Amino acid sequence: MTDTAALPLASVRAEFPFLDPPDHGPPLAYLDNAATTQKPRCVLDALVDYYTTANSNIGRGFYELSRRATTRYEEARAVVRQFLNAAHDDEIIFTRGTTDAMNLLADTFAARIVGPGDDVVVTGMEHNSNLLPWRRLCERHGATLRVVPASAGLPVRPEDLAAVLGHRTRLVALTHVSNVLGTVNPVRDLVRVAHERGVPVVVDGAQAVPHLPVDVREIGADFYCFSGHKVYGPMGSGVLYGRRDLLADLPPYQVGGGTVKGVAHHAPVSYVPVPARLEAGTPDIAAAVALAAALTWLDQLGRPAVRAHDAQLVRYAVDALHDVDRVRVVGDPAADPAGIVSIAVDGLHPYDVGGHLDRHGIAVRSGVHCASAFLDELGLLGTVRISFAVYSTTAEIDRIVAALRTVRAGEW
Ligand code: PLP
Repeated sequence: MTDTAALPLASVRAEFPFLDPPDHGPPLAYLDNAATTQKPRCVLDALVDYYTTANSNIGRGFYELSRRATTRYEEARAVVRQFLNAAHDDEIIFTRGTTDAMNLLADTFAARIVGPGDDVVVTGMEHNSNLLPWRRLCERHGATLRVVPASAGLPVRPEDLAAVLGHRTRLVALTHVSNVLGTVNPVRDLVRVAHERGVPVVVDGAQAVPHLPVDVREIGADFYCFSGHKVYGPMGSGVLYGRRDLLADLPPYQVGGGTVKGVAHHAPVSYVPVPARLEAGTPDIAAAVALAAALTWLDQLGRPAVRAHDAQLVRYAVDALHDVDRVRVVGDPAADPAGIVSIAVDGLHPYDVGGHLDRHGIAVRSGVHCASAFLDELGLLGTVRISFAVYSTTAEIDRIVAALRTVRAGEW
């Protein structure tokens, strides 16, 4: 087993049944971890255990099993709080993912504070899920969406954000880590610049949480969102962190069961406090419980070690790709990207390169990565994105390099 010094790779890989398929076919080099990660055994076990020992609906039944499900769900919330170093459990809202969280914020928090003539600021490197909710909000409310340029793909500088903020800016929404290049933005400094002007900040942490230690109190953002499935948790799990005083004031996003104290046909509706007010209907209880298992497991692995492992793989890949004809690494790898290396191959469309790698048993993402506006700014049709996880190896990078040496126009 090729190893980086940071993680005990053989034992980490042994935790992932996906990496050892029953048919023992040729091993797949799965390097599309920015899209979604594989799941460790503890997450799969947590799902099975929940459904075999605690499955019932939460908060509604006066019987032992329902109390058990409620306890597990609320324990999961406490794990997420600790993982993010939030101050209070009720600052953690379970969502279906980052997209869901951003739409929630656009329809509740932002809808109240953005009006005609105001503006909302995003960066040029946003994923559509942290762009379209704000764009639609602006269209609906007669506001303007302003963009901090990110044309070189470098970390957004506080002075560049400051230059775009105006006296009608009501909100800043920015990504912690670019899903295209892995660029790490200095979110703490960016938040400070916005706060100096009294502007609240939403941070998209979808690509940061799997790679970096994230401390929401240190970052100081008003809201921070991420997706469970990108950090070894199950599909359908996600988190919205919000400062307690801001969440306390939000109207429900969806209305329905679990959000109200009581309803009479002709009397005003009174809603329960957060988090339940923002989690209408039956949540994915098992997904929340299994997400907590994933975060606990990642913490035990050690988030600084995970970051070091990523950094070693990125450096190894950049060095190895340097010698491959016509291959160019996009962005600035010296800026220490988080777990992503994006490449362009001169004269070839990214889809063709992706197809070639697929035939060599390598799974990467090719195209615009739900960030076509950013790719336009970079002046590229797309990239081939190699993205790492805790189980990624330098041997997999060697396989990519070998396959890229044989890619030819017209082969597909
Ligand atoms: N934001 C970023 C930076 C992402 O990379 C992604 C997914 O790729 C999302 C948001 C959307 O995440 P989800 O599809 O899990 O809601």
